[in-house]
Amino acid sequence: MSADYYQVLGVPRDATAEQVKKAYRKLAMKYHPDVAEAPDAAEKFKEIGEAYEVLHDPNKRAMYDRGGNPMGGAGGFGQGGFSSGGFDFTNLVDAMFGAQSPRGPRSRVRRGQDSLARLNLTLAEAAFGITKELKVDTAVICPKCTGSGANQGSEPVECGTCHGAGEVIAVQRSFLGEIRTAQPCPTCRGYGTVIPNPCGECSGEGRVRTHRTINVKIPPGVDSGNRVHLAHQGEVGPGGGPAGDLYVELRVTQHEVFKRNGDDLEMVVHLPMTSAALGTVVELDTLEAERDDLDVEEGRVEVQIPAGTQSHSRIAIAGRGVPRLRAGGRGDLGITLIVDTPTKLDDAQRDLLAQLAEARAETSAQVSVAKHGKGVFGWLKEAFS
Ligand SMILES: [Zn+2]
Ligand SMILES: [Zn+2]
Repeated sequence: MSADYYQVLGVPRDATAEQVKKAYRKLAMKYHPDVAEAPDAAEKFKEIGEAYEVLHDPNKRAMYDRGGNPMGGAGGFGQGGFSSGGFDFTNLVDAMFGAQSPRGPRSRVRRGQDSLARLNLTLAEAAFGITKELKVDTAVICPKCTGSGANQGSEPVECGTCHGAGEVIAVQRSFLGEIRTAQPCPTCRGYGTVIPNPCGECSGEGRVRTHRTINVKIPPGVDSGNRVHLAHQGEVGPGGGPAGDLYVELRVTQHEVFKRNGDDLEMVVHLPMTSAALGTVVELDTLEAERDDLDVEEGRVEVQIPAGTQSHSRIAIAGRGVPRLRAGGRGDLGITLIVDTPTKLDDAQRDLLAQLAEARAETSAQVSVAKHGKGVFGWLKEAFS
């Protein structure tokens, strides 16, 4: 132990494991004997390796911090992961390339990927639920070879390059000796077998792409951005492996009358000034009017408009909003009333209104200026947000 390991790697004493690793990789690349030209590069490289060996291991680092010598012979640290150079080559290779060496042949059969599809719904479909057909384009098991990838009557045979091991050993010479690394066999791509006579339908993949139609059940109360999860309806894996899952992302199209606000539905209704003043009863179609499975009557609601209704007031009808997703109950139907002032009056009508104004002793001098309050501005915000 000659130098300060922290100085060697150029990291502070409280450096994180990630910082240690980063610093080491950078220096190891710089001083690697294959690339470095400085005469002391080999010595430096060894020093860096030693510093990393201690600082990336929490136990050895703690011992070093306490003043001990984790690289010393007496402490028993020389066994196990240590090789002749004083540090472990597996760690070095892992740190430099960030990869684990492959071990043995890998299976051709792997799980398929999840896939994502999108589905548009009307507001009524989203609110009340529906079963909808969805066209999906995914990999399915090859019908000709049923996933094996081999032509009928043939089967995969052992790879001649790796003799079934799936990997080949590459040997690199270095000043410290030979570095042996296992790499996936280039002939069989790591499978250990080759298919001499691949299936003509899937070219040996064991799966083919196809369009198919599936039924997606949409529960009541969904909204844009919700996803329906369908297990095993995604991509079939290579070699006919089990299918991944399918996620269906929902998008609810805008309705021309109703606007959704959480579990509430909002609508805006215009009514004449006289009805607002005298009061009335109106029948309105709710969103349920779009359901085929209900009677016309069930899709309507009778709304009492009290005498003296002000413009922009809101009437809430409980239980006629959107059903709560996977919960009981429904939101409200909110009806915002807008009182229309009559335009295009004929002479007789103008005369009647003038008489009314006179009877009520209303003149234009009586207007009152409103202060900023929640009333009107609150409504504006709600209706147009
Ligand atoms: Zn091979
Ligand atoms: Zn096939």
